[in-house]
Amino acid sequence: MNDFGGEIMYKGIAASDGIGIGRVVIIKEQSLSYTSYTPKSIEQELIRFKQAVSDFTEKTMAMAERIKNQIGQKESEILEGQILMISDPMVCSEIESSIKVGKCSEDAVSTVCDTFIQMFLAIEDEMMKQRASDIGDIKTRLLKILIGIEEVDISAVAPKTILVAKDLTPSMTAGIIKENVVGIITEVGGKTSHSAILARALEIPAVLSVQNIVALFKDGDEVVVDGFEGSVIENPSDDLKAQYLENKLEFIKYKKELSTYFGKKTITADGIEVELFGNIGKPEDAFKVVECDGEGIGLFRTEFLFMDKSSIPSEAEQFEAYKKAAVLLKGKTIIIRTLDVGGDKEIPYLDLEKEDNPFLGYRAIRVCLQREDVYKPQLRALLKASAFGDIRIMIPMVTCVDEIRSVKKLVKKYMLELDSESVAYNKDVKIGIMIETPAAVSIADILAKESDFFSIGTNDLTQYMMAVDRGNAKVAYLYSTYNPAVLRSIKHVIECGKKASIPVGMCGEAAADKALIPLLISFGLDEFSVSPASVLATRKVISEITKEAADKLAGEVMKLETEQEIAELLRKHI
Ligand code: PEP
Ligand code: MG
Repeated sequence: MNDFGGEIMYKGIAASDGIGIGRVVIIKEQSLSYTSYTPKSIEQELIRFKQAVSDFTEKTMAMAERIKNQIGQKESEILEGQILMISDPMVCSEIESSIKVGKCSEDAVSTVCDTFIQMFLAIEDEMMKQRASDIGDIKTRLLKILIGIEEVDISAVAPKTILVAKDLTPSMTAGIIKENVVGIITEVGGKTSHSAILARALEIPAVLSVQNIVALFKDGDEVVVDGFEGSVIENPSDDLKAQYLENKLEFIKYKKELSTYFGKKTITADGIEVELFGNIGKPEDAFKVVECDGEGIGLFRTEFLFMDKSSIPSEAEQFEAYKKAAVLLKGKTIIIRTLDVGGDKEIPYLDLEKEDNPFLGYRAIRVCLQREDVYKPQLRALLKASAFGDIRIMIPMVTCVDEIRSVKKLVKKYMLELDSESVAYNKDVKIGIMIETPAAVSIADILAKESDFFSIGTNDLTQYMMAVDRGNAKVAYLYSTYNPAVLRSIKHVIECGKKASIPVGMCGEAAADKALIPLLISFGLDEFSVSPASVLATRKVISEITKEAADKLAGEVMKLETEQEIAELLRKHI
């Protein structure tokens, strides 16, 4: 919290871009207190619980439908996921067993949900935290049904409302009328929480994880929500409001301007054309890429297909998922990365041992090459799906050429199997690699001879090049793509790709960095793969630069010796 000139500023996580100026409506947590009792009839209590689940399902389906109409299919799936969770035989039978030993439904629901919440929270993973939050939402809403408390109706708030809540659950968000809510502030949640995803989908500015904000504000307080900077300003002065209003109008103008790039080629002002793809995690996200005018998919992170399950997804399941994305892309390129498990990406049922240095350990291709049960269904599914579009296979975390050769050998083997089964596939399917390690950078010339394409994964490359854990806040000051070591690596990899006449793309976050794009153009990057929401902004930056100006800037940048000097110069140019 900062006090500047009478206004108080609170800091949180910037979760959805935009500026909101309005009045606070606090979404209070309703008391869920009840008195425990021992049911007279276990059978009646089981019926009572089943009725509550049925009410829950009905209400949730109605909300999902509302979200589908207001926002989209993908966002409604968050609520549909809750229906699946409560219908999960493991969750239901645990609750029923608890009732059968004499507990009332409220106690059974609370205890079982709390156990699952603790279990998910024990795993250090953003996705598991989200699961815990979903179970918490299910628990609260089931208890409300059992106790007989009405749900908060957010749809009734007045125009220019800033919603303030401990957490904005998907069920609450379902009621939001986009035109009336100009900002969201919560005490919990991060950039990838459901509230953040929904806020972004609704294009409502949001600041999450602001400590104690529910107690600090009261209904009717006037506040500014700055979703760019992650700040909230209480009782803004007229001058400050005017300043924010100007920023807001500028942002609206910018978004309108971005829309003029829809349907255009991605080409520099002096005519150098590049490819602009989108990154996805699930086949349905391919919709988003098409919707945002991506020209293909540069990275399909398949680990999400594995994380959403309790066992390895079968070849048939994976085939359907890859085929779905390929069909949605209607012949455009789709680069699918084979499983990148390990490091920060945990898949509990694969039973990988805990390691002291997981990022330097048993990860990605190292695991896949030793686990036929994991890799075979994936490679066969990819080959089968290659008959339905321009699917390309990408290998993560490569450090030596043997890894590519081993994958190619396996692909050949599975091709022969498919031949004998008379199953169609693309015999010329392209196999490329991610450049994410210093080893891959230094032997890029050797790797290029065995690869159909490169894609630079700057998220990991920066981590490994700088020897700095990408999730460790203490050394975050070193985690920057602008470090000369990282920039030289990127330049070198692109040069090696050019010499071998293979295309070089980038699918790490740096591909969408406005300040860095001129450098990437100068180095000769062929393909940029960014989050779908960044497609038009990236195209705009590329369209506004010339190769000549980019070369001049790159010449100056590459002479500099420190990250700070480079950052300063690059930022000066945007
Ligand atoms: C990368 O490392 O840049 C990358 C795209 O892979 P991920 O972020 O999935 O590790
Ligand atoms: Mg990576």
